[in-house]
Amino acid sequence: MTTSSITTPELPDAPSVPPRPAGALATAHEQLATAVEHLGYDEGLHRMLATPRREIHVAVPLRRDSGETVLFHGFRVQHNVSRGPGKGGLRYHPSVDIDEVRALAMWMTWKCGVVDLPYGGAKGGVAIDPREYSTSELERVTRRYTSEIMPMIGPDTDIMAPDMGTDSQTMAWVMDTYSVNRGHTIPAVVTGKPLAVGGSLGRGTATSAGIVHVTAAALEEVGEKLDGVSVAVQGFGKVGSHAAALFAARGARVAAVSDQYGGIRADTGIDVDRLFAHVAATGSVVGFDGADPISNAELLALDVDVLVPAAVEGVLDEVTAGRVRARYVVEGANGPTTTAGDRVLAKNGVTVVPDVLANAGGVVVSYFEWVQANQTYWWTEHEIAEKLEHRMTTSYHEVSAMARAHGVSLRDAALIIGVKRTADAHEIRGLYP
Ligand code: GLU
Repeated sequence: MTTSSITTPELPDAPSVPPRPAGALATAHEQLATAVEHLGYDEGLHRMLATPRREIHVAVPLRRDSGETVLFHGFRVQHNVSRGPGKGGLRYHPSVDIDEVRALAMWMTWKCGVVDLPYGGAKGGVAIDPREYSTSELERVTRRYTSEIMPMIGPDTDIMAPDMGTDSQTMAWVMDTYSVNRGHTIPAVVTGKPLAVGGSLGRGTATSAGIVHVTAAALEEVGEKLDGVSVAVQGFGKVGSHAAALFAARGARVAAVSDQYGGIRADTGIDVDRLFAHVAATGSVVGFDGADPISNAELLALDVDVLVPAAVEGVLDEVTAGRVRARYVVEGANGPTTTAGDRVLAKNGVTVVPDVLANAGGVVVSYFEWVQANQTYWWTEHEIAEKLEHRMTTSYHEVSAMARAHGVSLRDAALIIGVKRTADAHEIRGLYP
């Protein structure tokens, strides 16, 4: 008798796999509860806002290049669709589970509300370490996952984008799979696509550009400029690497960066262009000859003006937040600060520009890409950059004004705005039936 050839993949050992992000959903719920309290909503509305509208959990079998079959778990959560289609990324990471996807989907709802996009929030994920698989294996995983969740997605229902572990190529595969099954090309089913199939100019660096715009706005409010300010960036992926480059281009001094393998520090400033070449050649920032080695923990505690956590959730908790010496924490990642971490940062006078505002540049240009796809008319890079800067700066000032008016943190203010816009849409539509 032959035994089944289906196995669950073994997860590789640390340090190649970052620790499982603990408690993202708990953090998301705590943040929502604070906003609901400020807004004075009743228990029923609170529950509605806390509960995803739709969720799907799918099995994603993959025939490996070797012929062996392995199985992954995939998820898609539509947290809220009151203001428009669900919108949010697709994450490939070994620690993905339904609760993490629920948290990320909820944050997408508030994020789209904060920057006033006509979207709800959604998120997807597959529990896979993409670095362990070949390009053709990842293509098969993506196409099978897309086929499994097909009934839930569409250009008017739920629009995907890249997130951790996925990129524009992944989006091209999603778009192709969806389009082939529908019988015609439907570019607006995903954003963050390659330019060749209707991607938008400026999308690749949009999240990073947004981080720099809100940092500039926060500094301008206190009469300061980016020029000469010192920055440490945790994470040198799609978000962190371009943020470091854009900070440097605006005259800031990039004092330290890190990735999952370790960090580097140069008090006089890291040459980010040269660092890109080093990372392209070696796969990590570690060993860069223009800087000294430091650990990720040391980076979080550096005496810099601006700290940008742009890696995983939960890195600034009660303990690590207590070591932060930066004046500003600008959240490039989703959920890098726990509720306890937030309290410690507030007590120590650190200003946190929250994720749902700070990293919204990605979904803002995703929206621009979707609008362009829907009207089949393309904007110039300059038009995109201008619209992005305007949207991010305006949103920062709205959040900051709300924080001052209510005497709350920028996080609470952003949540109040995002939650209120969502609840208003829900209430004015009325409950069916
Ligand atoms: N994954 C990104 C985020 O977390 C972008 C989402 C999108 O563009 O839909 O904001």
